[in-house]
Parts: sequence; structure tokens; C-alpha cells
Amino acid sequence: MLAIRADIIDIYSRKANGRYGLSSVSQLQHALQAATMAEAEGEPPSLIVAALLHDIGHMIHHLGEDAALQGVDDVHEERAAAWLAAYFGPEVTEPIRLHVPAKRYLCATEPGYFSTLAEDSVRSLALQGGPMNLEEVAAFEARPHHEAAVRLRRLDDRAKDPGVSTPSFERFLPYLDALLSRPRAA
Ligand code: FE
Repeated sequence: MLAIRADIIDIYSRKANGRYGLSSVSQLQHALQAATMAEAEGEPPSLIVAALLHDIGHMIHHLGEDAALQGVDDVHEERAAAWLAAYFGPEVTEPIRLHVPAKRYLCATEPGYFSTLAEDSVRSLALQGGPMNLEEVAAFEARPHHEAAVRLRRLDDRAKDPGVSTPSFERFLPYLDALLSRPRAA
């Protein structure tokens, strides 16, 4: 059994009960809602796993649960991508790395997107650099996996509904296992 699999299960069973930002769902509910929607919408296993793990970066540091509320950007997207890259390919890690830039991108390119953001997402947006400028937009669109990152971002934004029930974390482990057992492309 891969240590990473056990580590991920351990992190989500011990550290994911904290509140997700200012919303009334936990980190675990947020992850499960995002993964459930990804699956229901026919996303590939890589994006289902990315949805499940996209915020693991919040759970592998010691900055506290609401770092953004204290005015600190915990760079959770980079932290998660770096940690996961030893085990998962870029089809998983790049959407995760880019899910914060994707928010900055959508704020710059999609009229009305900003007004859909939850208060905590608006607060962290300022710490993350605000909406992208034109050069940043062009650079973002040149990055591999940026479209998947935008899809992940939209799942992320919607996965905060306290009234939704989801399958358990274990239900998504076969997707994780399938990706972990697959030889990775360079
Ligand atoms: Fe999230």
C-alpha cells in the first residue's frame, strides 16, 4: 500500500473537519461536494481526484485554518501541487496549482464572475493578487491544463452548500488508486 494513499486518508479523517473558510461546510464536505459534482458532470478521473484534493494544501501546513482571515496567503495551491507531484501527474497537480490563478483569470475575463464569489473568496483574492492583467491572462491561457483548472475553479466555487449530502471519502478512493497505479507520463 502506498504511503501517500494512507497519508491522504489520514489527513482527510483528522484534519478536514475544520470549517471551509467562512462557509458553513467543513473542508471534508467541500472536497466531497466538489468531487461528487465533477463525477456527475462527466469529468475524467484526474479532475475528480483534483477536485477531491484541491485544498489539501490548507491541511498540510501549520498556519491555522483561516490564514486568509488573518491576512496571510497560505499559498495552498502551490503547497498541494508540490506535495502531490511526487505521486500524481500534471493532469491532477496542474489544475490544483492553477485553481487560484483561475479565480483571478475569471475575475478578469468573465463579466459577472466576481459578483458570484463568496466573501472568503473575495477576501483571499486581494491577497492572491486581485484580477489578472492582460499579460497575466495571456500567460494563463498558454499554460497546459488551464481549462481543467477553470472547470475545477467552478466546482470549487459551488461546493459550499450546507444542504447537500455526499458519498463518503472512501467512495472516491478507486479513482485515487487508478491514478496512483498508472505509470506517469513525464
Ligand atoms: Fe476550495
